[in-house]
Amino acid sequence: DLLVVGSANADLVIGVERRPAPGETVLGSDLAVHPGGKGANQAVAAARLGAGAALLARVGDDAHGRLLLESQRAAGVDTAGVLVGGAPTGVALITVDPSGDNSIVVSPGANARLTPQDVRAAGSLLAAARVVSVQLEIPLETVAEVARTVSSDTRFVLNPSPPAPLPEQVLAVCDPLVVNEHEALFILGGTAGDTPEDRARGLLALGPRSVVVTLGAAGALVADSRTGDLVRVPSPKVDAVDTTGAGDAFTAALAWRLGRGEGLLEAAEFAVQVGAAAVTRKGAQDSFPTADEVSAL
Ligand code: ADP
Repeated sequence: DLLVVGSANADLVIGVERRPAPGETVLGSDLAVHPGGKGANQAVAAARLGAGAALLARVGDDAHGRLLLESQRAAGVDTAGVLVGGAPTGVALITVDPSGDNSIVVSPGANARLTPQDVRAAGSLLAAARVVSVQLEIPLETVAEVARTVSSDTRFVLNPSPPAPLPEQVLAVCDPLVVNEHEALFILGGTAGDTPEDRARGLLALGPRSVVVTLGAAGALVADSRTGDLVRVPSPKVDAVDTTGAGDAFTAALAWRLGRGEGLLEAAEFAVQVGAAAVTRKGAQDSFPTADEVSAL
């Protein structure tokens, strides 16, 4: 049902007492290696909910690439579209200090080598998908090729993260554009209004068919250009333990339900529950709920 086109990274995490100054070495905790990257996260989140999910991505011919393929398969994702080689697997080097703040260096590696040509070669995967979900940890020209290629009855969902200026042709097919408040501010620049409603209207004016602004513990705001609806969808109240991956879980859930033909509001009502469930557990992929866990919430 759902094709995710995006990044796959190995997250290498070390806990530190404090960050090293230039030229300095500090000792940290044991290394933890987790599968990550927004594309890989979304595919796993959708599959765990029971979606038929496929991933179009590129990893290196190395141990991190094998870890990513293994975690996708374990979750039930179709990995026929995961290309191998061309550069080392993308890596995020993450240090976490005692207050929980992260410092992150990303090496895009193979993600930067997922090309428009790779998208054209995956024509049958794209044609089979009812919804395609894309983020920006891959080249913008590759995202633009996906936007150009999707047929009019395939839904195109974009989470512009990390935020970058978006071409008009890409914005025009987003249905929805899914942003958190930080991404909304980046895209709107100086024209951002004061309230989430102002921002959603400002984003709609840029051309997407619909917009979803995620609001953390406050849930999400849904704006649809077809109906003119601007509706807040509150999140269930939960004890938040770790918000890593919440946006990926939310977007995956939303995209999957849209692909199944649900309306935007209905899909968002499900997605806030999935996002809320994901913040109750540590980690990214480790925190993603099954459908039963969502209903139990
Ligand atoms: P991102 O993770 O991309 O910064 P948000 O923080 O807006 O995005 O979170 C995405 C979604 O995850 C929210 O729309 C909400 O459904 C859920 N969520 C995030 N934080 C919380 C929280 N503290 N309590 C309940 N739900 C949350």
